[in-house]
Amino acid sequence: MNPRPDNRGAAIDLESVTKAYGTFKALDGVSLRIEPGEFMTLLGPSGSGKTTTLNVVAGFTDVTSGKLLVGGKSVVGVPAHKRNIGVVFQHYALFPHMTVGRNVAYPLTLRGIDQGKRKARMAEALDMVKMGDFAHRYPSELSGGQQQRVALARAIVFDPPLLLMDEPLGALDKKLREWLQLEIKRIHRELGTTFVYVTHDQEEALVLSDRIAVFNRGRIEQVGTGRQLYDEPATLFVGRFIGDSTVLRGEAKSDGTGTALSIAGETVTAPRRLAGEANPVMLLRPEKLTIRRPGHATAAGANRLSGTIAEAIYLGSGSKYEVKLADGSTAIVRSPLTGESFGLGEKVELRFDGADAKLLPDDSTAD
Ligand code: ATP
Repeated sequence: MNPRPDNRGAAIDLESVTKAYGTFKALDGVSLRIEPGEFMTLLGPSGSGKTTTLNVVAGFTDVTSGKLLVGGKSVVGVPAHKRNIGVVFQHYALFPHMTVGRNVAYPLTLRGIDQGKRKARMAEALDMVKMGDFAHRYPSELSGGQQQRVALARAIVFDPPLLLMDEPLGALDKKLREWLQLEIKRIHRELGTTFVYVTHDQEEALVLSDRIAVFNRGRIEQVGTGRQLYDEPATLFVGRFIGDSTVLRGEAKSDGTGTALSIAGETVTAPRRLAGEANPVMLLRPEKLTIRRPGHATAAGANRLSGTIAEAIYLGSGSKYEVKLADGSTAIVRSPLTGESFGLGEKVELRFDGADAKLLPDDSTAD
């Protein structure tokens, strides 16, 4: 979290927000506090409720129940055009018959700002998105990335305390997307406004956000920094959604010393146990697993699993391997450029330290 010193952004509070369509709950008791000036990303699979949350905040959708405050004031029942919120969608929605300049100035025209001020602010907003030379062009004369930058300028030109963005880079190619991510980050820093950003792309969420709210089936599973979600996932769903992971399932036994999982005849242990009755699984990040040819003398880590290389992916900075384990499940391992390399079908041994295994309750929704 990184609130601006001048606190120009608005806080948002959702408290037990539910949105029902008939008997189906698109949002099922969502509570979330977004700090002034924070960059918050709503991340989750398709249909998990991200867009519905954004629409509720924007005022395009009513809540069925719960509280919604923007800048500490309830906005339930306040129409969208009176909320003074900037919005950018995936599809640019620029007015095709207006020049870029008139598109960007449009929110100021609506607000009755006089022409002199309008021109100055329009130019400032276009400069902010590095489109200052394009004011006289028409949207059809711009690339997709340029149109999206104009849409962003139009959303910030009236200096809203809150900007909502719904998959704004979703229609662009990867290179352009990565560059615009950095631009959006810079604009956020310079404006000090609260940004709420919807994506289903976990890498994009990690690049952009102060914090990320992970959605699943109309609920929030966890809110935290990228690092917190990666290192300390609260649920198996979060652990699998953020970053690569290996999930070990097996017959579990817990005692005072920790937890043992028996997986197709091999046993691995972790020095912790799970509170309660839930069936534990072990989640491991790729960098916590080492991969060696079987019987390698220097292999580190107390736990050993044997497997076969099912996929070898060259990443430039190293290699990523998918290793089929004896129980049919797949482990994901990364190996540095300097390490050994392995071919498809080759037998390998994975080692890990039990202290690096995250014990989590099994969660069938993660499959
Ligand atoms: P995506 O990434 O695909 O946009 P999302 O996480 O943004 O997904 P939402 O658009 O918020 O998901 O939708 C959440 C759920 O609510 C979905 O199952 C969707 O089908 C349902 N839903 C959304 N709008 C309506 C509607 N007007 N009537 C009925 N169901 C709806």
